[in-house]
Amino acid sequence: MRMVELIEKKRDGGILSAEEIRWMIEAYTKGDIPDYQMSAMLMAIYLKGMDAAETRELTFAIRDSGQTLDFKSIKGLRADKHSTGGVGDKTSLVVGPLVAACGLKVAKLSGRGLGFTGGTIDKLESIEGFRTNIPVDEFEKIVNKVGIAIAGQSKDIAPADKLLYALRDVTGTVGCVPLIVSSIMGKKLAANDDIIVLDVKCGSGAFMKTPEDAKNLAEIMVGIGKDAGKKIRALITDMDQPLGCAVGNTLEVLEAIDTLKGKGPKDFRAFCVELAAHMLEMAEKGTFAECEKIAAEALDSGKAFETFRAMVKAQGGNVRWIDDPSLFPTADTEIDVTAGEDGYITGFDTERIGLASLTIGAGRSKKTDPIDYTAGIRFWKKRGDHIAKGEKLATLYSCGKQKDLVKAMFMVLDATEVSKKKPKAVPLVRSVVK
Ligand code: URA
Repeated sequence: MRMVELIEKKRDGGILSAEEIRWMIEAYTKGDIPDYQMSAMLMAIYLKGMDAAETRELTFAIRDSGQTLDFKSIKGLRADKHSTGGVGDKTSLVVGPLVAACGLKVAKLSGRGLGFTGGTIDKLESIEGFRTNIPVDEFEKIVNKVGIAIAGQSKDIAPADKLLYALRDVTGTVGCVPLIVSSIMGKKLAANDDIIVLDVKCGSGAFMKTPEDAKNLAEIMVGIGKDAGKKIRALITDMDQPLGCAVGNTLEVLEAIDTLKGKGPKDFRAFCVELAAHMLEMAEKGTFAECEKIAAEALDSGKAFETFRAMVKAQGGNVRWIDDPSLFPTADTEIDVTAGEDGYITGFDTERIGLASLTIGAGRSKKTDPIDYTAGIRFWKKRGDHIAKGEKLATLYSCGKQKDLVKAMFMVLDATEVSKKKPKAVPLVRSVVK
């Protein structure tokens, strides 16, 4: 087969056969197809789409590009959650250890920042020494001992997603249903967990901007998961404002640590408890209300924090930073964003908030770009809060250039909607697809 012919076929709206998709993913993973040709294919898929059969085949090809874990040695039910990507979305850092503290085993494959959204792997790597590239046998041992391990896609597990993910990030091909489905479900099926909860973000800070698009994405992923014999459900959740108060790698880890200690922003804590309760309910730990109680207790008792600490230790991270978060390096410059008018905050252009955080160094614009882990945004006001003219809305932190901070400051200000009328409260979980 010749890659150029497959690119032309997709460019002209054709349907790729199972053999063509398998061949393409295998050859790309081996390094036989260059990035420039795969970039062209990704753009063709982005523009022309894929039908249900192509999407499934791409998912299975990504799963099969490395090992499918069998985890025979892991005792107990294995559960995982995965988000389609949002701004300030540090949920995995809390919910993973939380459900592990409640007795589930979490073998989690996560990704790096994608487009304007952050990634769990980048967040964890802001902890000194934390290793996300761990061999399969060690991964398995940590899950057995601690209850949770979080690793990135590697040469062993879903290697095709590792390559495609990084390429999509820098070629404008992220927000595309078949590419999101195959990336997420390819990884989830390779990790082979029994229970999967998908967090399908919906709104201005998500790849799916409307409830209809989010539902469509959720239904496709749930369908693939069910056909593969998984217990799976998808929560469609609000991303019309950043999740919690922190955006940016170190800031988000610090907010996650606070939440794991039973503190943290109220809405973020409530969201983590609700998501964890879905996972616990699917593991038959009780009714939904009982599971919410179990999850809340694991946060308040410090059990969830201890599990997070044990995971950091097992993955080589410096636990002194976890015990004393003041040891995390901090930005050398900060700048406040203040309100230009009185009123209630009614919403955010959350994608623009994500882009502002990239502008000050929290993400990459090229595959090889380094990340400034200290860079990020701390919100002092969220949707529904009143703000007075001149009052602090947010603070930006960075080790980068002052001119980028100023640019980002205006982006955050522009992205914030203020009105005289108090907006109605919006639930964080909008609906559930089972
Ligand atoms: N998370 C993933 O793993 N892949 C995507 O494409 C989006 C979010």
